Amino acid sequence: MTIAVVGAGLAGLSAAWELCQAGAEVVVLDAARQPGGVSADGFLAAEPDIQELARAVGIGERLVDQVGRGSALWTGRRLDPLAEGKAAELLGIQGNPSVGGGFRSFAAGMVEVVEALVACLVPRLRTTQGVTAVTRAARGWRLSFNGGSALEAEAVILAVPAWVAARLLAGLGVSAARALDTVLYAPSITVSLAYRADQVPGTLDGAGFVAASDSGAAVRACTYAWRKYPKRAPEGYALLRAFVGPVDGDPASIAHSELAAILGIEGDPLWTRAFYWTRGLPRYRRGHAEQVAAVRERLAGLAPLAIAGAGFDGAGVSACVKSGREAARRVLERLGS
Ligand SMILES: Cc1cc2nc3c(=O)[nH]c(=O)nc-3n(C[C@H](O)[C@H](O)[C@H](O)COP(=O)(O)OP(=O)(O)OC[C@H]3O[C@@H](n4cnc5c(N)ncnc54)[C@H](O)[C@@H]3O)c2cc1C
Repeated sequence: MTIAVVGAGLAGLSAAWELCQAGAEVVVLDAARQPGGVSADGFLAAEPDIQELARAVGIGERLVDQVGRGSALWTGRRLDPLAEGKAAELLGIQGNPSVGGGFRSFAAGMVEVVEALVACLVPRLRTTQGVTAVTRAARGWRLSFNGGSALEAEAVILAVPAWVAARLLAGLGVSAARALDTVLYAPSITVSLAYRADQVPGTLDGAGFVAASDSGAAVRACTYAWRKYPKRAPEGYALLRAFVGPVDGDPASIAHSELAAILGIEGDPLWTRAFYWTRGLPRYRRGHAEQVAAVRERLAGLAPLAIAGAGFDGAGVSACVKSGREAARRVLERLGS
């Protein structure tokens, strides 16, 4: 009995891990060259799911607490201190009482949890396998790929962004799934910038800053990554991560020149690297939870087919882990395993 997991972001990898633990035959398919999906920075320390999974895969001791605390607001002229939780609110993590408990990550970054899951799944993971259609088969489902090949599976978990799931499910006649296409994915650019520690003023403190919407800055927020989490940069070096809005020109040089002016950095960066997320963080419209519930109700009448991930059950990485593992359990239950 094969269960296909489509999408090897954190939701899909967590689903596949859960299925493997139950002894199921799993194949994980991702359109990209690398597994892991969207790359995050950390998670709220109060969120249990990702930490439980980390302990279960044997990397619990790699969890690290946020060290640098406190954030500032860039007004366009100066950095003003922000009340605890206010920066998170400005960034859209609204009304979450757990923000006060700070953030957590892994010693070498969130990539550690992806690598640990991939190591468990290696022979079952296939990259550059974009699924173009899901159709009914005699015993479950038939998945078609870019390039014309196909695979049959008794059950499928779609751990892909909402617009991909909407297309695949609409092709199956699940008309309620068209509503999932209304989940908006904001484009985002992140730029990592490395400096020698002596290029950055020693007076800089806290975990980062958020720019006021009328500040005129292209940099919307910046994390002082080497201050926020331990050992993010070698001794004597500084690492910044800037979140940049849509810009004309090179986001890395724009980020450097704005950060130099805002933070008082001297000289050029040692290196910079820009990451483009054409569809980054999902934002749900009113009624989203009801729409997802309606899709799940319709899927319950078909052969085992589940949806999981940020497009449906919450954008944070811990919510994605929970969503993936729950989808796996639902599918196993349907299969009577
Ligand atoms: C810049 C940025 C910073 C963030 N920072 C944080 C943070 O600090 N903390 C936090 O909690 N959250 C953060 N988030 C949110 C969080 O990272 C994501 O919501 C989460 O990782 C999404 O996981 P996922 O598995 O649901 O989806 P994804 O990671 O999007 O994975 C979906 C996978 O499906 C694959 N796929 C797509 N179409 C197909 C297809 N047709 N066939 C096969 N495979 C397909 C994709 O290649 C991808 O690998 C951030 C998001 C962004 C954009």
